[in-house]
Amino acid sequence: MLDGMIKMLKDRGVEVAQLAEIVFSLQKPYHSTLTLEECEENVRRVLTKREVQHAVYTGIALDMLAEAGNLPEPLQKIMEQDEPLYGIDEILALSITNVYGSIAMTNFGYLDKTKQGIIGKLNNHEGQIHVFLDDLVASIIASAAARLAHQRHARSYEDSQRDKS
Ligand code: MG
Repeated sequence: MLDGMIKMLKDRGVEVAQLAEIVFSLQKPYHSTLTLEECEENVRRVLTKREVQHAVYTGIALDMLAEAGNLPEPLQKIMEQDEPLYGIDEILALSITNVYGSIAMTNFGYLDKTKQGIIGKLNNHEGQIHVFLDDLVASIIASAAARLAHQRHARSYEDSQRDKS
């Protein structure tokens, strides 16, 4: 399942390493020992979740149908123009951040504004339609950052308990 998900993203121009780089830039200020490998592992963990996979399948399918001109109107035109008031792309992406709580949601809002790296590249389209994928990618990154923050916190708590015993 995870391999299929990673391949589907790759076919749409998105690599796990590109997502991990942005997770790293979000979380590095809080964790001095952070590595890219740890960020990549958290991206992979997010991508194994069924809720996440279902959102990605749905969004990419709509992007591809729009690219092929196969959606009914007015949706086809909305997707071609990436109509800013459409908003369903963000709502689908929020179904991913909902799984990972408030840190994921605030990071998603930040990435939606700053459009770092691959998110900005997808947003500029470059011949393809990525109405859904840019938001899905931002939400996967935001969720991986939140997951990492929670894991790190849990680990440091366990360490502090061990020191006491
Ligand atoms: Mg969008």
